[in-house]
Amino acid sequence: MNSDVEGGTTNDGRAVPSEPVARRDAARRTALLSSALIALATAGLFLVDLDPARSNSWSLPLAGVAALAFASSFLVFNVEFRRESYTFTFGEIVLVIGLFFASPLGLVVGRLIGEAVFLLAREHQPPRKLLMNLSAGFAETVALLIVTQTLQPVLDPRDPVSWLVAAIGVVIAQAMAMSMIALALRWHGGPITMGTILRIGLFTAPANTSLALVVCVLLDDEPAAVPLLAGVAVFLLVMYRAYSALKQRYDSLSLLYDFTHLVSGAREPDEVLDAMLVQAKDLFRAERAEFWLSIESSTYRRHVVDDVSNSRADVVLPGALAEIASALASSRDSVRIERGTTVPVEVAALEVLGGRDALIAPVLEGEDVIGFVAVIDRIGEMVTFDPQDARLFATLASHAGVALQNGRLIVRLHDQARQREYEALHDPLTGLPNRALFGDSLARQLAGEHDDLAIALMDLDGFKEINDTLGHQAGDHVLVEIAHRLGVTVPDHVVAARLGGDEFALLTRAGTGRDEMERLCKRVRDAIAAPMQVEHLSVNMGVSIGVAIAPSDGSDAETLLRRADVAMYAAKAGHQNGVCFYDPRRDENTPRRLALAHDLRTAIAAGQIETVFQPKVSIVDGRLTGVECLCRWNHPVLGDIAPDEFIPLAEKTGAIGDLTTFMLASACGHAARWSAAGHDWNVAVNISVRNLLDTSLVGRIGELLTDVGLDPSTITLEITESHVMSDAVRTAHVLEDLAAMGVRLSIDDFGTGYSSLAYLQRLPVDEMKIDKTFVAELAIDRGAEAVVRSVLDLARNLDLHVVAEGVEDAETLGRLQMLGCTEAQGYLFAAPMSADEVERFAAERDPRSEVALAAQR
Ligand code: C2E
Ligand code: CA
Ligand code: CA
Repeated sequence: MNSDVEGGTTNDGRAVPSEPVARRDAARRTALLSSALIALATAGLFLVDLDPARSNSWSLPLAGVAALAFASSFLVFNVEFRRESYTFTFGEIVLVIGLFFASPLGLVVGRLIGEAVFLLAREHQPPRKLLMNLSAGFAETVALLIVTQTLQPVLDPRDPVSWLVAAIGVVIAQAMAMSMIALALRWHGGPITMGTILRIGLFTAPANTSLALVVCVLLDDEPAAVPLLAGVAVFLLVMYRAYSALKQRYDSLSLLYDFTHLVSGAREPDEVLDAMLVQAKDLFRAERAEFWLSIESSTYRRHVVDDVSNSRADVVLPGALAEIASALASSRDSVRIERGTTVPVEVAALEVLGGRDALIAPVLEGEDVIGFVAVIDRIGEMVTFDPQDARLFATLASHAGVALQNGRLIVRLHDQARQREYEALHDPLTGLPNRALFGDSLARQLAGEHDDLAIALMDLDGFKEINDTLGHQAGDHVLVEIAHRLGVTVPDHVVAARLGGDEFALLTRAGTGRDEMERLCKRVRDAIAAPMQVEHLSVNMGVSIGVAIAPSDGSDAETLLRRADVAMYAAKAGHQNGVCFYDPRRDENTPRRLALAHDLRTAIAAGQIETVFQPKVSIVDGRLTGVECLCRWNHPVLGDIAPDEFIPLAEKTGAIGDLTTFMLASACGHAARWSAAGHDWNVAVNISVRNLLDTSLVGRIGELLTDVGLDPSTITLEITESHVMSDAVRTAHVLEDLAAMGVRLSIDDFGTGYSSLAYLQRLPVDEMKIDKTFVAELAIDRGAEAVVRSVLDLARNLDLHVVAEGVEDAETLGRLQMLGCTEAQGYLFAAPMSADEVERFAAERDPRSEVALAAQR
């Protein structure tokens, strides 16, 4: 053979850039292999008959063999597979001709000399590689001689058996030599497998051997005909080269097609770049492909792709490349730098790019050159990029430009879409997530973990006033400021959103318990409450926060939001420091509530509502002073329903009108009976604020009193303090009308509202009922005692009667007596009871019992 087999990485110095240790090791093994081959071949020479008998007419001298070996090395053709290139020479011809016409020594030495001269002078092969190639060639020749001489001592160019022997010898020797070279290549990381080499060798060797045998026959018989054969051979060679060039173009076109297809499928510019570089590298059989994208003036982003890596870096364009870049910009065509170029700027450019040859082409976006693309280091010892490659490369670069442009367009479209999506999901004023995004986030969180997760709805108190008095701009300013405060107050994992108007919301991650949520809400409330500068005014904003926790308060977004809303309204109404957790008892929207609200409309007519009476007692002398009427609902399915549950429902649905009328009628009826029986008991009825807003109330009460002929002062109307205060202006008239009629008015649950002293003074009330929460604490809490004491003082000053309700034990009673309270109501004396039981209670009662009991202590 002949031959030189090359893989993509046989190029010295850069072949396996990563592992110097492995390479040194490989070099040592190759040197060892070469030495072993030389030693074996030298030893083999002793087996060779150096002066065999000849039957041919003439003989070829050593110099002739050398010249033939040298010349045949020029007749090179490449077989290329996508990433691999195999170079073949016509070494078989030298071997076969030498076998028949030269002396064994002449063949061995002559061939060595011819190839050595070629490899050194033309190929400038480095010593290690030269040694490997020559030792393989040496061993190959010796092996050929041994095999053929063993099979047939005397070869005859006219004897077909000799032809066969020569062919077998060539194949065996070549297979051996190629294996050696393949082994060496493998050690150097070459991609070639033994199988590939044998396949190619076995395909070319028989063809070459046949050709060589024909030459031998002619040389022996009719030497003058040899040039004719050479003519045929040269023709075949030219044809093959034309074919392989054509095939290569075809391959290139199909790769270019693939490329166009690939980059048009890639969506982001980076993807286009990656695809383009990988394809360009493969298409032009280069070791590496690079893209230099101009970022600003002389700074470029250098994007390098080779077989093992893909890297990016921003670099200043080196001088040599700058010169080439400006040439590209003016010519708009590719630049080809051939292997072994001596043009100074090309040499410098190759140095920057780190290769032996390169193709460089401009990439355009519209009319502008935005950078250039390069493929570097054509694979294969014997080839470099050719002009056709350069043209193809320019085409590829322009495709890349278009693809990049499309890619950028797509990125812009994506950006716009993202922008639109952002706008659709965020509040434009504050930049906070809006209701839609908040709902999405909540739904997503609920779909994920099942641990506690909390939401809070927040409604600013008094925002409307700011908007109305200071204008919308001031309102917007407040909202932006609130958003800012939320942003700095809540931790990162909490989503703060603006749901619209002056409504904000928080969403915490799973695992947030009630305590943590309460702390967070209080922090938010305090942050919002801090004074805020609005148009030179210092404004204090309040906020009502309602909290719902999943899964206890609901496990879907809708329910949670509704329940947080319920809690938020409770916070607004209840003044519970602005933060309120969802409480189903306050929620009118549970299925039970809805059913109750429905049934309540017919409950009175169906006789399910009845009245009970709770005694009020003088704690001076123990006498029964009166009763409070309380309603009871005995629901046919749900059993007894507490008034705390159904009274708010009745207020909401309007059923409270009928209910109050029913209670008033019942109260008047019993009061009239008791009065007729000689008792001076006062009868109290609870009135809702909604009744006070009903203009027919006064007239109805008047009718009821007249119907039974009752002294109006026998009836006391109890009105909850906070209710009176919540709509003070409108209720004031009604209260005055009622007072004018002569019925007594009592302020119920006193202490829980925020009555101002001045306002109380103007109200036509007769009595205050100290709320049972203070009374219950009286014995244990000095703060409660202070409240009770001041209520009693206030009452004395305003000349009001005082009733303490919720008295449950003698100790509390004792304290009330000490503080100067005169009337009380509570379980200590009696629970609510029926009208008949009231009379029995009064009759059987030892008036001094509890009073005496308390006094003893
Ligand atoms: P209220 O007007 O403050 O009525 C007193 C409540 O305290 C009654 O509960 C009574 O049973 C309870 N009570 C009495 N003694 C004690 C005690 O020693 N300790 C404790 N812890 N509680 C005691 P009830 O009957 O469940 O009524 C609850 C509330 O429902 C009433 O509070 C009132 O606001 C409302 N309500 C009841 N009946 C009517 C009505 O006919 N009309 C209206 N508008 N409201 C009513
Ligand atoms: Ca009451
Ligand atoms: Ca009360």
